[in-house]
Amino acid sequence: MPELPEVETVRLGLEPFMTGKTVRKITTHREGLRVPFPEGLARLQGRKIDKLTRRAKYLLVHLGSDILIIHLGMSGRITAMANLKNHKRAKHDHFILDLEGDGGIVFNDPRRFGLVLMVAEKDMAHHEAFKSLGPEPLSKEFTGKILHARLKGKKVPIKIALLDQRVVAGIGNIYDCEALFGAGIAPQRLAGDLSAKECDVLVKCIKDVLAKAIKAGGSSLKDYRKADGELGYFQYGFKVYDREGEICPRCAAEIKKAPLIQRITQGGRSTFFCVRCQK
Ligand SMILES: [Zn+2]
Repeated sequence: MPELPEVETVRLGLEPFMTGKTVRKITTHREGLRVPFPEGLARLQGRKIDKLTRRAKYLLVHLGSDILIIHLGMSGRITAMANLKNHKRAKHDHFILDLEGDGGIVFNDPRRFGLVLMVAEKDMAHHEAFKSLGPEPLSKEFTGKILHARLKGKKVPIKIALLDQRVVAGIGNIYDCEALFGAGIAPQRLAGDLSAKECDVLVKCIKDVLAKAIKAGGSSLKDYRKADGELGYFQYGFKVYDREGEICPRCAAEIKKAPLIQRITQGGRSTFFCVRCQK
């Protein structure tokens, strides 16, 4: 599933391609994805794309007073096509945006967990999908102090608490594991027990792993534009994620017989961590 850095990479890739262009036509090839496509999409035709932003894992296409919202779900891909006329519709191409000139974007989603929504800009903050979202992890608003306050009294493991979008928006399983490793915090610790200082370190690590992944994504952008828009994890070197049974890289630098990365299940998802250096 694409996580925040992948969505941000898609946004960065689409931004120069879409910004300032007029939407010529919107075509849908089925009723909808996870939910039906919004009614009244046609009114966006003829409007200019002012900007492309992101909130959590949602891409926001700003068109005058309305925002077209796209979520990639589990398997969604957006491809920027320089020439849509030559594009032969592929299986699972469900949503196509023709832009001025010959190009456009194609949203392909085999598993159909993706979303396309439309909301008036003024109603955005109250929209069901956005009203309870926590702060953006890369924003100035997300600080150790804020995290500490949000975790107060929580009797769930910190690993689970960070996946709660009301605590902080857009953290998925991978970057959750990586940030906890970076901060040296055991994933089983109760969220409410973290000290203010630990929250400071954790916030720094969350920002750090996300920023590095976005940077790694940026270097793959060239391919992303010219090729098929495949979303990947950009060869980003995960330290613990999906590395069960491998030697902990941090402990290996400190002691001879370093422990192996372990995997446990929390809330139905895999957690990868080191028993020695995560406390
Ligand atoms: Zn370790």
